[in-house]
Amino acid sequence: MSTTERAETRQQTTTLAPLEPVKLPVVEPNPRGHQAGDRCREPGCGNCHWDVQRLKYWLRGRLLAAGADDAEVDKPLGAQTPGLLWRRGNRLCAIEVRSAPVSIEHARKRTARLKAVGCDEVLWLCPTGYWIGQIPALGVDDFAAAGCEYRALSGGLVIDSDGILSPRETPWEIREFIDGWVAGELACGYLDEDTRGWATVSDWEAHTHAQAMMIAQQRQELLDQRTELALARRATRDKAKQMHKMMHRLERAELVAGELDAVKRRLSDRDRLEAGLRVRIARQREAVLHWQLMTCFAMLVIVTFIVAGFMLK
Ligand SMILES: [Zn+2]
Repeated sequence: MSTTERAETRQQTTTLAPLEPVKLPVVEPNPRGHQAGDRCREPGCGNCHWDVQRLKYWLRGRLLAAGADDAEVDKPLGAQTPGLLWRRGNRLCAIEVRSAPVSIEHARKRTARLKAVGCDEVLWLCPTGYWIGQIPALGVDDFAAAGCEYRALSGGLVIDSDGILSPRETPWEIREFIDGWVAGELACGYLDEDTRGWATVSDWEAHTHAQAMMIAQQRQELLDQRTELALARRATRDKAKQMHKMMHRLERAELVAGELDAVKRRLSDRDRLEAGLRVRIARQREAVLHWQLMTCFAMLVIVTFIVAGFMLK
């Protein structure tokens, strides 16, 4: 650069207008997500979406902290993209998060599809509602929980004093749940033919044991009842036989009674006949007596005439 050029540049620099202060637009604070306690359940709500994403990333952190080998948010698996996919050893599990009410049919189909692409277990985190228990879900209290202290109000099961699992009444910390689930201490199972829930493996063992005992007791009761039924049947058969015999006897007795009646009738007929004959015999005797008397009288008269004849000679 020549001396003259340098001088020109200096001149240009000095002639530039001083920088005006840049007026930056005032940035409004842009809070995203709901406030804790809002408990919004609106489908398609942007703030809810943000809360769900926050929960997913929080879950990812918890899963890794609990010992998962890998945990990914919205990672495709085959043709499916579960909200969260985590792996530990051979176990591959998925978590689906929904802040709006869930369609049971959709959830069941999605669970089946996730299992078809290789997920061993699927957990649904959704609001509390009738769908909890129909799908392997926990009912989350607040998706915008303060300090990420997420709690489940439903979907958990706990053993009662009879050793049978029943719905958990106390809230379940999701943090605690994740620790237990990753450690393989929790499992989802069927409480009855159509209610599902999450409980510890040891509680499931106690529950199945209590149920096995109950089944054994019921089987024994059934056997006893069958024996009783067989005995009752036999007794009924015996009674029926006896009844048949009695009926037969009764019929015979009726026949005999009929015969007796006939004999009685014949006897009374005979009695009547006899009485008539007696009367006739008495009359005939009387008549015979009269004739005898008359004969004697006639003989006497004849003898008198004969004696009188002799005397007259
Ligand atoms: Zn919302």
